[in-house]
Amino acid sequence: MAAHRELARELGGDVAYHDGGSLEWAEGDDKLAELRARVKRLAGRGYAATFITRERALGLEPGLGVPDHVREVAFYADDAWLDAPRLVRTLLDAAALKGAEVRSNVAVRSLRVENGRVEALAIDGGEIVAKAVLVCVGPATKAFLEPLGVTMPVGRVFGLLAVTSRPATALGRVVHAPGVHLRGDVGGGLMLGADDLDGPVVEHASAAGRAEIAAQMLERARRVYPSARDVTLVEHRVGVRPMPSDRHTIAGRIPGFENAWMIATHSGVTLGPLLGRLLADEIVRGAPSATLAPFRPDRFAR
Ligand SMILES: Cc1cc2nc3c(=O)[nH]c(=O)nc-3n(C[C@H](O)[C@H](O)[C@H](O)COP(=O)(O)OP(=O)(O)OC[C@H]3O[C@@H](n4cnc5c(N)ncnc54)[C@H](O)[C@@H]3O)c2cc1C
Repeated sequence: MAAHRELARELGGDVAYHDGGSLEWAEGDDKLAELRARVKRLAGRGYAATFITRERALGLEPGLGVPDHVREVAFYADDAWLDAPRLVRTLLDAAALKGAEVRSNVAVRSLRVENGRVEALAIDGGEIVAKAVLVCVGPATKAFLEPLGVTMPVGRVFGLLAVTSRPATALGRVVHAPGVHLRGDVGGGLMLGADDLDGPVVEHASAAGRAEIAAQMLERARRVYPSARDVTLVEHRVGVRPMPSDRHTIAGRIPGFENAWMIATHSGVTLGPLLGRLLADEIVRGAPSATLAPFRPDRFAR
């Protein structure tokens, strides 16, 4: 999150970054014990994680409907949400201003390799000569690297996010409530997701089934956010996350290659600014970071 704040400052306070923290509460003894353990673990690592009263939570988010029996609400003050498409556009514009040539919608068909060095990217009708390459192809990682003889166990996890019309009271923060998580969306509505309405449930659902999943999310959101009583679904989006087999980010030099690096992570929005900075230091300045030691691709080559 510190890397996000730094990047937002560097980009001149662009509005893609929405701070204010996040709120979470749990129902049931087991879930509450899990939540307490999480808050303790994060606070122990120096992250701003604490419990606040239900009343204070409602003071922060007046549109919420935290049930009366909930006494503790976790508050993560440094959490934020990001308008990722906007940030990507801003970054591309900033890169172009610094002389980068941005080529959109150009598929890289393969990499031309000689003696452990990537010499060029093969595209339709030609090649792009490269001194160094960073492969960030998300869920396509495994298929993209296989022809190079590199086996990276990166799976594909489907997800569905539903977007609603504008609620009576705007939601400022990210909220993790039992059965649903929600935040404000750029259009003024709410963006909804649910951990149990995810992955294979979404992957194997028909178009009608996916619409039904979105409707279920809305139903749950109305329960925890009474201000959303009258909202309707505007759309739902299905996306695919890249998921390393050990569920940890993969970032670093591709085994067997002198000048090729990769990043594959299911937390690319959260970790993007940090990973980008660390990999840029490594590729451009030859300064690998010890922070990345547990996340190197060669853990799968051993
Ligand atoms: C439902 C859902 C919820 C999510 N929630 C979170 C979250 O809460 N927090 C978080 O941090 N992240 C979240 N993510 C983000 C996600 O999990 C990834 O971390 C993120 O998308 C990775 O970014 P990326 O740029 O590496 O890959 P992608 O976003 O997948 O982008 C890869 C790009 O590479 C392009 N590409 C692929 N093959 C080629 C080729 N051969 N040539 C040229 N281009 C190619 C693709 O077209 C695509 O544009 C979520 C994603 C989904 C779908």
